[in-house]
Amino acid sequence: MTSVSLVGSTGSIGTQAVDVIESERDRYGVVALGAATSIDVLGVQAHRLRPDVVAIADADLAPKLEELVPPGTEVLGGPAALADISRDADVVLNAVVGFAGLPVTMAALEAGRRLALANKQSLIAAGPVVQQARATPGAEIVPVDSEHSAIHQCIRAGRAAEVRRIVLTASGGPFRGRRASELVDVTVDEALAHPTWNMGPQNTIDSSTLLNKGLEVIEAHELFGVDYDDVDVVVHPQSIVHSMVEFTDGATIAQLSDPDMRLPIGYALAYPERNGVAFGGLDWSAARRLDFEAPDLETFPCLGLAYQAGRLGGTAPAWLNAANEVAVAAFLESVISWTAIADVIREVLEEHDGTTPNSVDVVIDADRRARELARRAVERRAR
Ligand code: MG
Repeated sequence: MTSVSLVGSTGSIGTQAVDVIESERDRYGVVALGAATSIDVLGVQAHRLRPDVVAIADADLAPKLEELVPPGTEVLGGPAALADISRDADVVLNAVVGFAGLPVTMAALEAGRRLALANKQSLIAAGPVVQQARATPGAEIVPVDSEHSAIHQCIRAGRAAEVRRIVLTASGGPFRGRRASELVDVTVDEALAHPTWNMGPQNTIDSSTLLNKGLEVIEAHELFGVDYDDVDVVVHPQSIVHSMVEFTDGATIAQLSDPDMRLPIGYALAYPERNGVAFGGLDWSAARRLDFEAPDLETFPCLGLAYQAGRLGGTAPAWLNAANEVAVAAFLESVISWTAIADVIREVLEEHDGTTPNSVDVVIDADRRARELARRAVERRAR
């Protein structure tokens, strides 16, 4: 049996992971559950999955959580609680949202665990530091992001030295085909209406700006050690081809399925085996078409900004991520416009100081600094 720690179990990825685990109860055993604040969902999950320990990042909620979990379940509360449940399982699923997931990534890798990584921000913001931790004996990262899961699967068709390039597919989001001038007045609801994937709000807005794809370019570079010149993005509105790897002989291997996150989650939990229950299997009895087109970098400048931050390296990806999280939060509160998200990121990146992170503290500091600058940029653009 594979023991699993589900960190960030109450969000979009976390609840789908519970689905996967419940589909093969004799295969997976949940030893720990953790969330930021959602104690009610956590309590229900604890009764269903019977973990040894549950963790809540907000310490004030711990006494209430004690009342919601089955008797005998250990309850941990406080900022370090999520990292504390990330060291003692065969697989640690990091499904925490945003930069707050960094301690979980570090704890799992430093303990030599397999990290099923849904929290891309920790790898992107802290790349050099995470790579050090990844060298710990036993430690490995299996990505949960659907594109990187696809690449992870495709790459098994050849050797690392035989990879010519990675092609990341992008759905294009709700505004595909629109011009920049048409997007000045888009509402939060319009930006949240993703055509193919059902995700949390941060990820959904990031998909509408293509910043999500930009973060994924950096993620691919960090995960697979491929040069930025060899990571391409292609828009594929059906979200059936989840990404592709081209090998030196010209062969392109792709992974296809319906858009269902339970497939990449199951892949990361079962790896190197395959999950026994299918999610997202395709029905080929009906006619279908798969379209591909180049991304519109003028309308979606966030993609280019992400390449720029990736190539700058050091803490620039941390700055990119921090500026974006602040800008997206301001957009979700209707403080700034959708087009201002890119402006805020651009302005913050212009201030980047070229620091190279060699510790988590340096990354946290870079994150804090970039957030300050982003908040000022937001204030200047407040409507
Ligand atoms: Mg993705």
